Amino acid sequence: MKKTNSSYREKLNHSAAHILAQAVLNLYPDTKLGIGPAIKDGFYYDFQFSQKITEKELKEISREMKKIIAQNLPFHQKLVSPSQALKIFSQQPFKKELIQELSAEGNKKVSLFFTGKNFVDLCRGPHVKTTGEVKAFALLKIAGAYWKGNEKNPMLTRIYGVAFENKKQLKDYLARLEEAKKRDHRLLGKQLEIFTIPQEVGPGLLLWLPNGAIIRREIENLIFEEQTKRGYQHVYSPHIGRKKLWVTSGHWDLYRDKMYAPMKIDEEEYLVKPMNCPFHMMVYKSKPRSWRDLPLRIAEIASVYRYEQPGELSGMVRVRYITQDDAHIFCRPEQTVDEFLEVFDYITFLLKVFAIKKYHFRLSLRDPQNKKKYLGNDKIWEEAENKIITALEKKGVSYFKAEGEAAFYGPKLDVIIEDALGREWQCGTIQVDFMLPQRFNLEYTNKKGEKEQPVLIHRAPLGSLERWVGILIEHYGGAFPIWLAPVQVKVLPISEKQLEYAQKITASLREKGIRVQLDGSNQTLSYRIRQGEIQKIPFLVIVGQKEEETETITIRQRNGKNIPGRSLSWFEEKLSRLIKERSPQLLK
Ligand SMILES: [Zn+2]
Ligand SMILES: [Zn+2]
Repeated sequence: MKKTNSSYREKLNHSAAHILAQAVLNLYPDTKLGIGPAIKDGFYYDFQFSQKITEKELKEISREMKKIIAQNLPFHQKLVSPSQALKIFSQQPFKKELIQELSAEGNKKVSLFFTGKNFVDLCRGPHVKTTGEVKAFALLKIAGAYWKGNEKNPMLTRIYGVAFENKKQLKDYLARLEEAKKRDHRLLGKQLEIFTIPQEVGPGLLLWLPNGAIIRREIENLIFEEQTKRGYQHVYSPHIGRKKLWVTSGHWDLYRDKMYAPMKIDEEEYLVKPMNCPFHMMVYKSKPRSWRDLPLRIAEIASVYRYEQPGELSGMVRVRYITQDDAHIFCRPEQTVDEFLEVFDYITFLLKVFAIKKYHFRLSLRDPQNKKKYLGNDKIWEEAENKIITALEKKGVSYFKAEGEAAFYGPKLDVIIEDALGREWQCGTIQVDFMLPQRFNLEYTNKKGEKEQPVLIHRAPLGSLERWVGILIEHYGGAFPIWLAPVQVKVLPISEKQLEYAQKITASLREKGIRVQLDGSNQTLSYRIRQGEIQKIPFLVIVGQKEEETETITIRQRNGKNIPGRSLSWFEEKLSRLIKERSPQLLK
């Protein structure tokens, strides 16, 4: 039932795209039409206008669309020969280009869709029955888009919209959109002074500001602590290394478009690392290994550098400097499934700490049509894939398969999380790899005294810390749990007379390792409270004459709750416990 519903929404959105094109042609008859598909969350249509289109014109276009919807025009299909189609679209160069391509592919007929009598588009469908079914829609934004996504082609104007079966759904959607805008990490990240990406440094090269650095350090502490408990050993490795390392690993052949050009040092070529794997292979090889040493879990929180297309860079979530919570597990073949499950358990633990309640898993496999993009043979791939599936089934975890999403050296399991607004993000991965151990000649001595090859598991549960913190900003709407909050407490004396008492409280909290600030400025109390709220500080400690006389404090929590008349030691003790537990809660 649900499934038909979602495909109905797709039809609805795609039909709305036709209505949009028709409305545009009614108002601006010399406009050239590009394409207008339904997309994940709505639809768009690309146009070449002869004049500039702004938000103001969108209103006018919306009104025209409403007229077409009110006419309740039927959508109907007609198959014609390519030459007939070329005549019908004689004024539409982009459509003509598409028709010629269809004809060159050997199509004897092309499919057209009419809306009533006056509008026709080149389209295979499907659509809803009539324009009247589009009960609610909104045009959302305008963007530039190259014809066919190629920068050598003309830049067209893309109008985005969204259509629904009823007004309530549209209203809910727009409310969610508004909330997402408020939580946009690029906006909040600036307001909360978490990161900056100055053009002087370079696109996608992020600087962690002091507040961001605190958040990152806290996450790193969590990772270090928990991984140490789970038997990982942490290492450090350089940012560059001989090119040959990545030739051996296969990155140079199959991952080069994401790597920066080599640099020459002492007549030899070096690369900036796009991944840590080769270094950890060298850690493994730093001494002979026996079966007793395995599993060996080598971890490093390390920054790598990857070339992302300029158009894909976005705030913290897509950058060119990526800090991974990386590790490589070397194990005996019979340990693979258990090691995989242990990583799985760790990921589940992390998601719980960050209060991410909804997530699912994607099993990313090779593209069967394009095996050249990957190392190794069918047998190795099947073996690795079977290890993952066995582990998943042992745990009773459901997953879906995605062909063409694997790493070039092996299949992987990706964690897709759902944030507080129901949006999906791909974060961590676990990969089983038989390839790199072979290419780097890794071995260990087995129980019989023979040399054997270990299996390698690559894993980065959070993925990239930059991306992770970007997602967290939006997930929490900037209101970080206490353990992550850059400032945990702000002390506000009501008047100058309590300044000394406030300083004493601040010093005591700082002494306990709590991140505290004193705001004893001349601004009114309500102004200072408001500032604390904008900064989303978990606790404001307010002290006036009454508090000073009774040696108490009044705590104002971020959720608006006031807790008066408590002793400082009571607060310190509660707070320290919440921090230590990395609790997502405030005070009860
Ligand atoms: Zn269509
Ligand atoms: Zn790796």
